[in-house]
Amino acid sequence: MSGSRPAVLFDRDGVLVRALVRDGRPYPPRSLPELRLDEDAPDAVRRLTEAGWGVAVVTNQPDVPRGLMTEETVHRINGAVADGLGLSTRSFFTCFHDDDSGCACRKPGPGLLVEAARGLGADLAHCTVVGDRWRDIGAAHRAGCRAVWIDRGYRERAPRPPYERVTSTAAAVDLILGGQPSAAAGRMPR
Ligand SMILES: [Mg+2]
Ligand SMILES: [Zn+2]
Repeated sequence: MSGSRPAVLFDRDGVLVRALVRDGRPYPPRSLPELRLDEDAPDAVRRLTEAGWGVAVVTNQPDVPRGLMTEETVHRINGAVADGLGLSTRSFFTCFHDDDSGCACRKPGPGLLVEAARGLGADLAHCTVVGDRWRDIGAAHRAGCRAVWIDRGYRERAPRPPYERVTSTAAAVDLILGGQPSAAAGRMPR
């Protein structure tokens, strides 16, 4: 599709939503009470939307097939995130499979990105993936998208290059929008 608008495909946990970190590893919120939006997320989505960018959310939720969470809970959390960020739940693309399923949607597979780009009417070559783990960056590579890695300092393997590295969701959006710092960029972390 030519002349398509650019879009950002955000990973959810650790990017728009605070991951729960235990022993240096990130975990998703498993209930609504555990859900906290990343403090940068509302501004990040607003700035992109105002600049005319498409925004979607692409998330692996393997805790569902692992029996740790229900699909319904994931949909509730997605709904709360959508409400909090002014997005439609139709902008959320979720994989409910684990590694052994052979599905195309579990990142680093490209399936969620392909679906999200189609939903937004965006060309994958004009999409930027923002994620906090190697699977997000791997999916960006396979789909032919730009990759921005938010390095949260987890104790796990780093993504395989190429990617652009930042350390916050606000910094990712600053980079995408051309280095204009957001009003919140100078704020100290809590
Ligand atoms: Mg994540
Ligand atoms: Zn899947």
